[in-house]
Amino acid sequence: MTIAVDLVAELYQRALRVPVEQLTWSALQDCGINLAVRRDDLLDSGIPGNKFYKLVIDLQSARTRGFSRLVSFGGAYSNHLHALAAAGERYGFDTVGIVRGDQPAALSPTLRDAAKAGMQLRFVSRECYRQLADQGTDSPDVIRFIEQEFGRCWIIPEGGASDAGCRGATLIGRALEQQWGEEFQQVCVPCGTGTTLAGIAAGLPAKKNAIGFSVLKGMGNLGAKIAVAYQAMTANQAVSSAGNWRLVSGFHAGGYGKKLPENVRQFWRDFELETGLLLDPVYTLKMFWGILLLAQRGYWRKGTRLVAVHTGGLQGRRGFAAQIDW
Ligand SMILES: *Cc1c(COP(=O)(O)O)cnc(C)c1O
Repeated sequence: MTIAVDLVAELYQRALRVPVEQLTWSALQDCGINLAVRRDDLLDSGIPGNKFYKLVIDLQSARTRGFSRLVSFGGAYSNHLHALAAAGERYGFDTVGIVRGDQPAALSPTLRDAAKAGMQLRFVSRECYRQLADQGTDSPDVIRFIEQEFGRCWIIPEGGASDAGCRGATLIGRALEQQWGEEFQQVCVPCGTGTTLAGIAAGLPAKKNAIGFSVLKGMGNLGAKIAVAYQAMTANQAVSSAGNWRLVSGFHAGGYGKKLPENVRQFWRDFELETGLLLDPVYTLKMFWGILLLAQRGYWRKGTRLVAVHTGGLQGRRGFAAQIDW
């Protein structure tokens, strides 16, 4: 007999226990800004960070509707596929990862973990990957391709970027307000697809803002996508049409997954050595770097109290080992 557990309610209870810690960071204190860190990297040892929130509603829906196999898309260092594999193993789903690019001679550490957790990996050419990932999970072509090879599957979009992903991320905003409501005015979060930013903003009271730090070099229509995701979450709430979220750019440090410039690498080292807080090079590093630069430019009033969400991703440090010499 399987016991029905409400995975969303269970995750919210865990979210309420995620530590929020005051950060002692002299460079930021010199700017008169107070920063706490919400440690979602500690949310769960197997499925850390924002990806668990983004998956939880899909896990729940797939289970309710009797799907036994989950499939999604990602690159060789994808935190999303890593989390999906671990979640599948934990909650009894088969998982398939459709991976961008030809099969390499040796798997990345991320994909090695995913395979060990039971994920079946299907490598597709970059062109084929873009066609599949960009068409949307309800496209007949995508469904046909997947069902021909893998049978009946619950399909999750690349990066967990969907209304379900966004709704799951509202748990972060709700939990944070519950835990730490009196202590902060604004929340900072790194942005890839912006799904987490939109969810956090929608989960916060309208008078508090979430500010997203884009890690992408070219942002394309990212802001428009965030606005759509946000509006889907807040349609029944009294929020201004502009929304209680902001997106800032200029802190991509060369682009997604690229080798870091020397000044950013030094920032990374100095930050970790002083604070003891480990960062991932793709997302959280760029957010903390961005927070400091904005603070130094006077972006916030002195005395502003911020919370930065540590969205995890630390498994990705392994791909950057050559740049970490401290
Ligand atoms: C995926 C990821 C993000 C970005 O989340 P989005 O919802 O795509 O914006 C941020 N931080 C980490 C560590 C991630 O793995």
